[in-house]
Order: sequence, then C-alpha cells, then structure tokens
Amino acid sequence: MHKVVGLIGYPLGHSISPAMHNAAFKQLGLDYEYVPFEVEPKDLPEALKGLRALHIAGFNVTIPHKESIVPLLDEVLKLARVMGAVNTVLNQEGKLIGYNTDGAGFIDSLKEDAKTNPHGKKTVVLGAGGAGRAVSTMLAEAGVKHLVLADVQEEKAKELSEYIDSYFDLTCDFVCVNSEELQRALDQADILVNATPIGMHPKIDESPLSEKIKLHPKLLVYDLIYNPSQTKLLKTAKASGSKTCSGLGMLVRQGALAFTIWTGKEAPINTMWKAAEESLR
Ligand code: NAP
Repeated sequence: MHKVVGLIGYPLGHSISPAMHNAAFKQLGLDYEYVPFEVEPKDLPEALKGLRALHIAGFNVTIPHKESIVPLLDEVLKLARVMGAVNTVLNQEGKLIGYNTDGAGFIDSLKEDAKTNPHGKKTVVLGAGGAGRAVSTMLAEAGVKHLVLADVQEEKAKELSEYIDSYFDLTCDFVCVNSEELQRALDQADILVNATPIGMHPKIDESPLSEKIKLHPKLLVYDLIYNPSQTKLLKTAKASGSKTCSGLGMLVRQGALAFTIWTGKEAPINTMWKAAEESLR
C-alpha cells in the first residue's frame, strides 16, 4: 500500500527533506512519498488528529513544534525526553512514538564525516537553543570529557549546563560569549561546535566569534550551518589551520536515521547526500 510520510513546521519555506527522502524511496523501490505540511502552532493538536486519521506512516517535526509536540505524543524515547524535543515521529499502528535523530545524526556525522570520536574529548558548544541542546546531550551521552557552553542568552547556557550536569557524569560549564574564559576553554578544546544561526544565508559575513578569539590548529570546528557550506567561522578556522566540517552531513544523517525508523531499511546515504546537495543548489 502507498505510504505517506512528511514534515510539519511553520513557516516551512524551502526544505531539503522532501528531495532527500523521495530520492531514497525511489532508489530502494519503496512505495512511500514525503510531503511537507505547513502547520500553524495553534493547529498542532488538530493536525495530529488529522495525521492519525489519515494513517500517516511517520513524519519529521521542525520549528516551532519540536518541543510543543512532546506532551501530545503517545510515547517518547528516553533521549528525546531528556532533550525535551522530538524531530521524528513513527506511527506504529495508531500509536505516535517520538524520537530525536538530530543529536544522533550529529554524532554520526562527527564520526563519519569529520573522522572524530567525541569520547574523552574536550568540547565547546556555541548556542544553547534546540540544536545546541540536542548536540550537547548527545556529546555527553557519547562520553565527552568536558563540555563548555556559551550563548548570548547566558541564562539558557546556564540552564543547559545544569541539566547536563544533573543527567550525565561529566563536568559541564558555561562561559560568556567572546570572553577570556571562552578563549581559555577553546585553547584546551579538541572540538568546537557552532549551534547558533550566525553565519547562515543570507547573513554570510557574520561569525558567532569575535575577531579577538583565536583558534588553534589542532581544533576540529563543526558548524551546524549547511547553507553556505563554508561559513565565515569555517573560513577563519581553516585559515588558523583547524580542521573543519559543515552541517550538511548532520542533516543527511538525521534524515537517514528517520528513514530507517519509518521503513526498517538501511538508508541509501549517498543518494540522500546527492539529493540534498542538488536541492540546496
Ligand atoms: P535557536 O533555537 O535560535 O538557538 C540558537 C541560540 O544561539 C539562541 O539562544 C541564540 O540567542 C544563540 N546565539 C546567537 N548568537 C550567538 C553567539 N554569537 N554566540 C552564542 N550564542 C548565540 O536555533 P536552533 O534551532 O538551535 O538552530 C541553530 C542552528 O543550527 C541554525 O543555523 C540551524 O539551521 C542549525 N541546525 C542545523 C541542523 C543540521 O542538520 N545541520 C539541525 C538543526 C539545526 P538569540 O536567540 O538571542 O539570538
């Protein structure tokens, strides 16, 4: 039987996910279709009723529903519950089950694309919003040695560091953006992650770090932004001799994990990657 999966969010704008998933379904000869649905925040409970009634096989969840959908689902997997955010839902015979593949997609990309295992590493994360929360939780789960968080909204970084401290057995601190403390943390760090939107198209000349902050050559700089693929931060990092990685790998790999949750099949990563790149162009 023809199965429908999709994406709910508001506003949706251009999304790469339909192209990526539909190419993967075609590649494996699966009778599935991925459709974007724009759902206003006030309509979320009604939209879920509709999606259930239509027997949708599953769906992705994006801004602004990732957190508000949690109490509306029948079951939420442990790490998604800990993060307080869901980006993938499976409809298992009428039961809506919530997952979070963002953080796991990031860890897969770190290992596969940046060839870096976070276990035992010292890491700095900029941005304590939804993506920063997912990434920091999974870095803690993956066994990083030390985590330092910075957000322009200091309260958010403080709250996230307290939550990481309470769930995981590691030291998690927060520092002020562009401060001497941040510079000291970066001097000792193995990995820097940008989980802020600073540098994203169209504001490609911006960086989350001020020019006085210096990066050392042994640092890996991972930018969650994938448009443009070379952000100002990544260009600066490259000029300092640091290794760099853009967020397209995370986008593709979180999609691949969702694909497997819905279909039970291994995702054709190369096909998804190619479709994502084409859709971005
Ligand atoms: P968000 O909820 O807006 O969180 C970003 C946080 O960073 C906000 O608290 C923001 O504060 C803060 N911030 C802004 N400038 C900063 C700076 N210079 N230093 C430190 N913190 C700063 O956004 P999000 O949903 O977490 O997404 C963040 C980025 O990740 C976006 O670019 C998004 O596209 C990307 N992302 C990529 C993937 C992927 O698959 N590659 C997946 C998810 C997200 P203010 O709100 O006060 O500005």
